[in-house]
Amino acid sequence: MIDPGHNGGNFADPAFINSPIWNGRGAESCDTTGTETDGGYTEAQLNFNVARYLAAALGAEGAQVVLTRTTNNGVGPCVTQRADIGNAAQANAAISIHADGGPASGRGFAILEPVADGPNASVITPSQSLGTDVRSAFLAQNVEPVSDYAGVDGIQPRNDLAGLNLTTVPKVLVECANMRNASDAALVVTASWQQSVAQALATAITQFLTAA
Ligand SMILES: [Zn+2]
Repeated sequence: MIDPGHNGGNFADPAFINSPIWNGRGAESCDTTGTETDGGYTEAQLNFNVARYLAAALGAEGAQVVLTRTTNNGVGPCVTQRADIGNAAQANAAISIHADGGPASGRGFAILEPVADGPNASVITPSQSLGTDVRSAFLAQNVEPVSDYAGVDGIQPRNDLAGLNLTTVPKVLVECANMRNASDAALVVTASWQQSVAQALATAITQFLTAA
């Protein structure tokens, strides 16, 4: 299951996007618009492009791929629904694709992992394995350095996100880069970098699914 974070139409429907949902531990908004580069390139577009490249790469390997959205001009779905889609598919692996709007001075990727809260308790260990595979692939393929401002060695456990709190399948959320950093912003807008991210994610997912 591939979840391209946010959606291009979210900007147009704040009432829906800001409606509160229960994320398993507390209230959260249905979705957000996501961040963008200083030049106005949106995270929703970046996430969608990477997801399409990744879906194609995994499909070519024979994987059955489920996406949480198939266009970049719609609204939502809410983060709870995005979790439901992976759960309903009984996905062997699930990945949410995002990019951060962090401090301009910092760059790099971070992998957000679930913290046990009940619904997700049985998938904490495999999610950590998937996260390690993603980190290894990013570094081995020289896609992007580990974040120098978020997490520890690129890993950040998070208990405040519906997508991780409510998952019943192995799942991580990847912040592929920091869109508010000038160096990262120059990369994220290019098709070649987006493809390299997708390739690293495909390698990681393949590694995760084939490790015995
Ligand atoms: Zn995001």
